[in-house]
Amino acid sequence: MNKVALITGSSRGIGRATAIEFAARGYDIIINYNRSRALAEDLADLIRQKYGVKVEYYCANVSVESDVKTMVEQALKDFGRIDVLVNNAGIAIDKPYVEKTVEEFNKTIATNLIGPFLVAKYVAPSMVKNKYGKIINVSSNNGINCNYPTSADYDCSKAALNNLTRNMAIEYAPYVNVNAIAPGWVKTDMNKDFDQDMEVQECKRILKNKFANPEDIAKIIAFLASDDADYINGTVVVADGGMML
Ligand code: NAP
Repeated sequence: MNKVALITGSSRGIGRATAIEFAARGYDIIINYNRSRALAEDLADLIRQKYGVKVEYYCANVSVESDVKTMVEQALKDFGRIDVLVNNAGIAIDKPYVEKTVEEFNKTIATNLIGPFLVAKYVAPSMVKNKYGKIINVSSNNGINCNYPTSADYDCSKAALNNLTRNMAIEYAPYVNVNAIAPGWVKTDMNKDFDQDMEVQECKRILKNKFANPEDIAKIIAFLASDDADYINGTVVVADGGMML
């Protein structure tokens, strides 16, 4: 029987690459999207045709509790269980610090921090019952080292997510592993407004001298979800290519 993975925010970017990586490894896939329905549908078609695993897609805003509850209840009905949860959905609203509004700050915290809390709240009880589960929270190295106040709200959300990861690991022990991955720069829509100069400057701070592709991060998430990583628990795995302050 295939294991089942739910990846939030898998219509695009790192989440999409992660859904494909898990499908390639024989998992059944639960896609979650918020606004990009057509992309979620296309991804489901691709996974079904290329990998032959079971796949469904569900709309839910991860920061809205009723959405999350409905999605998880339906997914558990459709798939029977959830073995892996990747809390990947996230947003960044970069702008000058002094122009940040309370509404934007709250939206970032609601999506990047409350979202993972809510999805785990509804998924983890079934994992605990099954005495098996892997939760990977997609954080950021901005949650550890911050450099740009333009993303202060984002950085705070990820720092808090790192803390929440440890709390979740304690709460759901011993059968459910909870870890965070902290990527550096990754080539996705989140950075699509970067100009070439900024990318060149940032690459000088990275020992690998390049941004990651979403697939690079997806492979590490899949490793953390695998039984080979069973003794990694309650920690933050940095995957930033060796970024210098
Ligand atoms: P992306 O390309 O902008 O994709 C974001 C994904 O999150 C989309 O699938 C989007 O779905 C979904 N999403 C956003 N708000 C949502 C909500 N309220 N409910 C459900 N889904 C929602 O971003 P990405 O770069 O792949 O980022 C994925 C994760 O990696 C985020 O947590 C981000 O903070 C983290 N990360 C990214 C980088 C980077 O450099 N890109 C670095 C470190 C960490 P819809 O399109 O359907 O709305």
